[in-house]
Amino acid sequence: MTRFLLSCALIVVAVFALSFAAHTSSDSPWHLTPQSEALVPDATLRVQIFRALSAAENAGTDPSISHFKVRAATVITKDGQDHVVLGGNTEYAVPEAIHGESSLINHVTALYGADTTRQALRFVAFFSQRCGLSGSCGDCRDYQKAQTDYAHLLIVCGQASDHTVRVTRFSDQLVDEDKFPSVSPDSLSITPSELTRLVDAAEQARLGGVTLFISSGQTAAAALSYSGKIYRAAGADDAAFHYRYPIGGVLQQAATERDYFLKAILVVGEKGHWPVVNYRDRQYGYESSSFNRQTGKPPIALIITDGLGNYRTTTFEAALPNAFSTANFMPEAVKEFLRTHAPGADK
Ligand SMILES: [Zn+2]
Repeated sequence: MTRFLLSCALIVVAVFALSFAAHTSSDSPWHLTPQSEALVPDATLRVQIFRALSAAENAGTDPSISHFKVRAATVITKDGQDHVVLGGNTEYAVPEAIHGESSLINHVTALYGADTTRQALRFVAFFSQRCGLSGSCGDCRDYQKAQTDYAHLLIVCGQASDHTVRVTRFSDQLVDEDKFPSVSPDSLSITPSELTRLVDAAEQARLGGVTLFISSGQTAAAALSYSGKIYRAAGADDAAFHYRYPIGGVLQQAATERDYFLKAILVVGEKGHWPVVNYRDRQYGYESSSFNRQTGKPPIALIITDGLGNYRTTTFEAALPNAFSTANFMPEAVKEFLRTHAPGADK
């Protein structure tokens, strides 16, 4: 009898093992690229990633303007159970959108709470027809940085055509302000008098703006265009939490004047402190710098100062790695736009 029970137990174990094997990564159509394997040594995590990718294929989206579907998914382990969570992009009215990764993270929080998002969200997986090199937009970088354990977050792209899976670290998309190279004022790409004008304009702008929801950290920006004009703007918050960023502000003013090509943008914060340049604001700068690139000009210099005569400088290209702009998708349209909107083009 004991022998019989033992045999039954072994059979049960064997059946269990077989059913477990049926859910291992070797049965999945997905396979990691060789470089990605090192980032995901955990077999359980691989299975979760492949499961998320298969689920992401069916994530609902509504990209009515761009027709570019962003289908995202993750797997959250909660109380010993795995749960697939989906996210998808939707677009509305003027080109505005709820983005796929923000949608996904918000769904995780809505279902399981903010603490779970920080502790249990290990990866964001995208199902894509073709996996390129682009990272998240600047705003989604801000959001992922704020809501997740971003230092350990993995970004996954599963390519539909051949089921290859590329994994990267989210942190590769970030460049903290203290990583911007320090420079002496006389080695900047603008003249000392241009620098003085930019600093004065930005510091004056910082006295304004709207700060009803933030008690510190107000920043302001000033931009110098190739036409020699200076534009300035300070951050402004509002009750709908549609924050208006300073770099976005100066770029909109310059664009309104059809002054599309900028040499430098300088950002200041509180005196004695280096300003934070949000990734959303870097996205605006990157888009504008792509106008320069399209017409053979150097990228816009992004300069930050602590207000005490110390400077760091970089470019939006370096401060927003693996970014995308309209120039990536529609280079000819951007060239034509800039040609037909140049000052004097309507005369
Ligand atoms: Zn985004």
